[in-house]
Amino acid sequence: MRRIRKAVHAGYCWGVERALDIVHHTAETTNGPVRTLGPIIHNPQVVASLSEKGVQAIESLDELEAGGTVIIRTHGVAPAVYQQAQEKGLTVVDATCPLVTLVQNKAKQLVAEGYHLIIFGNPRHPEVIGTLGHAGGAATVIEHPEDVCQAKLPKKVGVVVQTTQETERVGALLSYLAPRCKELKVFNTICNPTIERQDAARELAREVEVMIVVGGKNSSNTRHLATVCREEGARTYHIEEPGEVQPEWFAGVREIGVTAGASTPGWLMDHVIARIQELEADNLLPA
Ligand code: SF4
Repeated sequence: MRRIRKAVHAGYCWGVERALDIVHHTAETTNGPVRTLGPIIHNPQVVASLSEKGVQAIESLDELEAGGTVIIRTHGVAPAVYQQAQEKGLTVVDATCPLVTLVQNKAKQLVAEGYHLIIFGNPRHPEVIGTLGHAGGAATVIEHPEDVCQAKLPKKVGVVVQTTQETERVGALLSYLAPRCKELKVFNTICNPTIERQDAARELAREVEVMIVVGGKNSSNTRHLATVCREEGARTYHIEEPGEVQPEWFAGVREIGVTAGASTPGWLMDHVIARIQELEADNLLPA
């Protein structure tokens, strides 16, 4: 009988739970259309369920005529987006995670103090785009630690970090950056729920042969969870739903670890575990 172990910290973080509460409350108490600017979380099932309740995800405010309510998701947006919403006469409900607001504020602070700002994160991720907007566009976005060696930098450099980055990568960035600066001020703004999930995944990945990481393929924090599991030597599979589980992954395996990103509902992780147990009960897992 294979043993399946769940990471101690996995699934929804409080920022996502808070955002979903805001969406449900807004949908129940608002007359007229309610939209989220982008999917509220990186989970297709949850987004589809909200859509059935009348809350549609839109990609851009350009899709909307005047009026109605728009909800800003946990990743936050640049000030220009609030401005555009106001010009369109939209009611804005802000579900930006307070820990993302902290990154935005630290970025503004560093710019105001005269530091050249580095945002360490994925330049295509909405959180990074929003933070860049709050910094007035005056920043260099660094995606990979070694990229900083190519960047032209003045003497005073300040750093903020995308909330869902990996802690080890921040260490690597600073090892490249520190020798190049006269003055360096760093706010390590990786959020605590991300750190807890990465630590728990790392610990479990050291003790099992196979790790299953459940969550959206476009979810930054889920992808980083898969990376830390691989770094610990566990054979790791990143899946979005139970149907992706393949029996051959578990040939000769006695212990399986399961974790999930901060935007993955607990029930989805439980369904994945149930799927593995079903395959085993039906003798469909290779010995
Ligand atoms: S992962 Fe962190 S920053 Fe993002 S919503 Fe959750 S708590 Fe907030």
